[in-house]
Amino acid sequence: MEPAPNVAFLVVAAGRGARLGAGVPKQYLPLGGRPMLARTLSRLLRAAPAARARVVIHPDDAPSYAAALGGLPDALRTRLDAPAHGGATRQSSVRAGLEAMARDGGAEIVLIHDAARCFVDAPLVARAVDAARAHGAAVPAVRLQDAVARLQESGVGAFVDRESMRIVQTPQAFAFGAILDAHRAAARAGRDDFADDGAVAAYAGLRVAPFEGDAGNVKVTTPADYEAARARLLAAGDVRTGQGYDVHAFGPGDHVWLGGVRIAHDRGLVGHSDADVALHALCDALYGALGDGDIGAHFPPTDARWRGAASEVFLRHAAGRVAARGAAVTHVDVTIVCEAPKIGPRRDDIRAMIAATLGVAIDRVGVKATTSEGLGFVGRREGVWASAIATLRMPGEE
Ligand code: MG
Repeated sequence: MEPAPNVAFLVVAAGRGARLGAGVPKQYLPLGGRPMLARTLSRLLRAAPAARARVVIHPDDAPSYAAALGGLPDALRTRLDAPAHGGATRQSSVRAGLEAMARDGGAEIVLIHDAARCFVDAPLVARAVDAARAHGAAVPAVRLQDAVARLQESGVGAFVDRESMRIVQTPQAFAFGAILDAHRAAARAGRDDFADDGAVAAYAGLRVAPFEGDAGNVKVTTPADYEAARARLLAAGDVRTGQGYDVHAFGPGDHVWLGGVRIAHDRGLVGHSDADVALHALCDALYGALGDGDIGAHFPPTDARWRGAASEVFLRHAAGRVAARGAAVTHVDVTIVCEAPKIGPRRDDIRAMIAATLGVAIDRVGVKATTSEGLGFVGRREGVWASAIATLRMPGEE
């Protein structure tokens, strides 16, 4: 058996990704709780456990790049070489990356990959390496499923024979020296307009072989692509449930806050914040589903900032922690136990408040109220207790 070749990845992440319109280049947008670039790098480095990788970044993106690496375990991060700084076009960025690799000794085979193709998988990487060994220059190619026609001024013109056409993806795989020479030749000729490295290789006279691509290896470019990628990660994930519980005592006052709604009453509830037991229980249910501490850890009662705070602030925080993990709230259910005030007339106000704060439809929010039949501290009208359950869908490693 031949020894495994020395393979390196070059990941192109210098683009500005304006089409997603998110104010941050798309490769740094969180997707399933991690920057897209971290997902891509994780996939590549796991697919080829001996390979190193180098990323080409925009010079302005150094802080975003450093933050993205925080989404990688140490064992993968140590296999990244210092990032290269890209140029004005994809082609010049790749050349900058190849030159940086060359200064560090190069590789036998380089796989050049788009940062925004975060669903690349191990079989595709293996096919790329095999194709580069066999042909020296190779690109993943996918058959067209739809009909293809040329547009003319008069309308749709001739339909093209799609059997002779392919969609070309990345990773594109090359003998390192050959693609470096091809990029240098294109640059010397003043050419900076090639859409990808297969085109640069073909320009330089290399025969570029197709190998089997992967229809799932999509490039996340538009907002619709991003939503589809998010849904795909959630579909590959799992479901988690958390529960929360809280009690507050009655004291002097003329209203209580329950479920984010002000309810007139002849007592108030005593607490460091607004003492909203229902939202406190719900926050703990959300933190619990994430395995992310509890409300006291996030908002210590010793911290004067939260004195008299509206508990909506806490629920917003919990919702933010859910979003930061790339999770989605499937359902929450809150039970409030008290002899008075009456909750039923305000039930839908509470549901609407929670739904709006969590960004879910109101039919995903349950609120129930009961008394304790005169028993215990609730029955003696000394206080209110509440419990809650939250169900989340967590993104998977897809
Ligand atoms: Mg509390």
